[in-house]
Amino acid sequence: MTRKLLATTAGSLPKPNWLAEPETLWPKWKLADEQLWEGQQKSALEWILEQEKAGLEIISEGEQFRIHFVHGFLQKILGISWDKKIKMGIRNDRYTVEVPTVTEAIRKTEKIHSKEAMFLRENTNKAIKFTLPGPMTICDTIANDHYNSRSEMAFEFAKVLNQEARELEAVGVDVIQFDEPAFNSFNQETIEWGIDALEKAAKNLKCKTAVHVCYGYGIQENLDWKKTLGDHWTEYKNIFPALNKSNLNQISLEFAGSNVPPELMLLLPDKEIMVGVITVVADKIESPEEVKHNIASALKYVERERLIACSNCGMAPLPKQIAIKKIKALGRGTRLANQK
Ligand code: ZN
Repeated sequence: MTRKLLATTAGSLPKPNWLAEPETLWPKWKLADEQLWEGQQKSALEWILEQEKAGLEIISEGEQFRIHFVHGFLQKILGISWDKKIKMGIRNDRYTVEVPTVTEAIRKTEKIHSKEAMFLRENTNKAIKFTLPGPMTICDTIANDHYNSRSEMAFEFAKVLNQEARELEAVGVDVIQFDEPAFNSFNQETIEWGIDALEKAAKNLKCKTAVHVCYGYGIQENLDWKKTLGDHWTEYKNIFPALNKSNLNQISLEFAGSNVPPELMLLLPDKEIMVGVITVVADKIESPEEVKHNIASALKYVERERLIACSNCGMAPLPKQIAIKKIKALGRGTRLANQK
């Protein structure tokens, strides 16, 4: 019997406007202290129920407890100066953001996301996924005033990520996903050291491990960049052979509405593939039939047992109502694909 197709999201989901500024990547919280923790739990619970209702099988907390997927993790890492913020071009200078600076050897002395993962574990009986930023993407979202090179810094972050991942595994997380959008911006460095650093972060975990490699959130800077990439996007072609040899179990890729040639999935014969069958742009809500069609396109290259239907990327910057509709379409389209 073939396994039924499972569905999940890439990770982040919009925060409600009473919790944080909406539709922006680095919002400010609107609550503080105990009220903030209460609000985050309330919002995460709403998203857990929304995902379950849509029929998703692998559930996340929608990153409701962190302001941003990279800086949320960094906030409790020692050796980083938040007073020394500088404007830096990230993802190969695609957009400029204010980032903190590494000023001393980095270290982790406390659990960062365990309490949030515990909340997720206690509030669903489904499999749960928790996302962490990958080492290369962290190094592309922070300034370096201490290490000799970006790669040296990445291996140090890999150590603390591995500590954190082990703690999340102990809470009962089924899938730990490292987000590495920087892989598509720096193909050469990815091959040279990015995947090695990622493997170090994922080392000796018993739960499933995944890496999400995308072409970014559905924001204008990324939409403009994608227009420059031509009719056949070749970035995955450069890195999939190395990822297939890595210790990661699952690879999450962007596919819906993209110019990614589907046959590139053949370069990952030994991995489960989380295929983006739903876009993360605000001006399009896929129908379940479109989602089914996207799944069918991927099934030409990936056996059903290795395919998980997913969103192309995180949905954090989308209007909440649009993200809800997209999740529903993802769930329904996957159900249609299971009916054959
Ligand atoms: Zn992404």
